[in-house]
Amino acid sequence: MGVTTSNVKSVFVNILALHPEIVYVANASYVYNSYNGSVSTLVISYIPNAKKVRESLVAAVKEVNKQVDTKNMKPAEIVLAYHEYLTSTVEYDASGIKDYSTVYGRDHKYDMYGTLVDKKAVCQGYAETMNYLLKQSGVPCALATSQYINHAWNVVRINGKWYHVDATWDDPVTDLPGQSRHDYFLISTDTLNRRTKNASSSYSLGRYDTKISAAWTGSYNGATDKKYESGQMWSGVEKVMYYRKGYWYCIKQGSSWMDFQIIKNRFSTGGKKVILSGTSVWYKTDGSHYTKQYGSIFLAQESLYFHTARYIGRIDLDSPKNEYTLLYDIRSKYSDGVNIYAMGWHNKQIVVWVSNTPLCNPRDAYLLAPCLKHSWNSGKVTKKATYTSTGTKLYTCKKCSYKKSVATPKLQLGKPVVKTAATVKGIRLSWNKVSGATAYKVYKKTKSGKYQLLRKTNTLSIVDGRISSGKTYGYKIVACNAYTTSKVTTVSRLYLGNVKARAKNTNKGVKIAWNKVAGADSYRIYRKSGNSAYKLIKIAGSGAASWVDSKPVAGKKYTYAVVPYKKQTGGAYTPVTVSCKR
Ligand SMILES: [Zn+2]
Repeated sequence: MGVTTSNVKSVFVNILALHPEIVYVANASYVYNSYNGSVSTLVISYIPNAKKVRESLVAAVKEVNKQVDTKNMKPAEIVLAYHEYLTSTVEYDASGIKDYSTVYGRDHKYDMYGTLVDKKAVCQGYAETMNYLLKQSGVPCALATSQYINHAWNVVRINGKWYHVDATWDDPVTDLPGQSRHDYFLISTDTLNRRTKNASSSYSLGRYDTKISAAWTGSYNGATDKKYESGQMWSGVEKVMYYRKGYWYCIKQGSSWMDFQIIKNRFSTGGKKVILSGTSVWYKTDGSHYTKQYGSIFLAQESLYFHTARYIGRIDLDSPKNEYTLLYDIRSKYSDGVNIYAMGWHNKQIVVWVSNTPLCNPRDAYLLAPCLKHSWNSGKVTKKATYTSTGTKLYTCKKCSYKKSVATPKLQLGKPVVKTAATVKGIRLSWNKVSGATAYKVYKKTKSGKYQLLRKTNTLSIVDGRISSGKTYGYKIVACNAYTTSKVTTVSRLYLGNVKARAKNTNKGVKIAWNKVAGADSYRIYRKSGNSAYKLIKIAGSGAASWVDSKPVAGKKYTYAVVPYKKQTGGAYTPVTVSCKR
């Protein structure tokens, strides 16, 4: 076979490194000839619940794609979007580190399943998931590992240059909801090594043994660029940033430690606007205070929830001036010394934590319960639409009572439904009554193809007598009132006629004669007696001008109509009544 154990090992390793979504393989082994190392059989074993695990992961990836829409983002924004998603929804699992290959089944905290489904993972889970999501969005990336600090993270390539991204280390180990640092986001190797410190001694550990594996498109050639390390919208931001409709929202300290700012950023232009600022002071029981900001934000639909040390509020991003509402004042329940300390995802719930001191476990936890999907009522008209101006309708969410005002279109006149008929006086156009219309205009197509006003009327029909047999006429009809005109109904009609029937008793029967008209390809002869309906008794060709009815009963009175036709279109006729004498 020529395949050796080292071939197989490297194939397995590479397949699993490039396809982190394969989270259901328990073990991959092989049978080989120990004498020459040649492999004869491959054995891949799956975890017992492989199918269910696979399905849950597919659903979780779908959910990420629903939450994170990278469609209009620049590559750096795409990396940021996934960085924020991972740091905000996943918790670092510090429950012990084991080598996953020794765990029967699989310990998912090392893989995408743990990261996206369980929302608990270690660095390998974060990094493999990041790799998978970036690859899916077309951003070149690779896994980076250091044996020395027993860690995994990512490198990404933007505009041809490589940068380090370590979502795990930006998501501090004791989970603080809503926290997302940006210290390891798009940085150079130099900065990475400088910032990699021993937590207790601040002694720089570095990651000098870094290995880059499984690059997806391009090959890694070092990360030296420092362009994203300062002056960026994420610089100095310690809380999760949220993206909506082209803008990134963040909260950070203002000009002094007492001030916070909520900023709306446009990454592509570098534009920024402070949409809300104020003071936020963490008072201790003794009246003194901590000198740091602890506010955070949380985006749910068009509402940006925020908290300061004291308040929870909501900014309505779609309102013209980003109006905000204060929802909760912690002083209504707690005295000084207890403050709001965190807000965001924790254990798959959106929580608010309050605490006696910052940077400790919460004293009390509440669910924020933002409305993640509004359920609108049927709406109330607050301004009626007219023929000249739009109206407004106010909808209220049945779950959270958020209100939105929606413009309703100007009133419109319905388009008339027009019927055509050929009569002895000409072409008759008739239509339905259009609600709100005070008049109707009929335009006729001229020889040059333009339409000219034929009649303006308030009746529901007109007859156009300026016609000749064998010709087709075009019309446009609109309904109108003092303010507006409806959409146009276009019709056309072939005119045939008028065929006048004559009748004469002969010894063979009743002889019907008629005048031929231009354009007819046949004449249909109908007969009725008394009040009965007309019956078709003969179809004569276009050359005929008379026909003898040999069937009638002597002494009875008959009415004959000769109707000109072209294909299925009938024309105008004048019937004749005769008493049969035989
Ligand atoms: Zn709602």
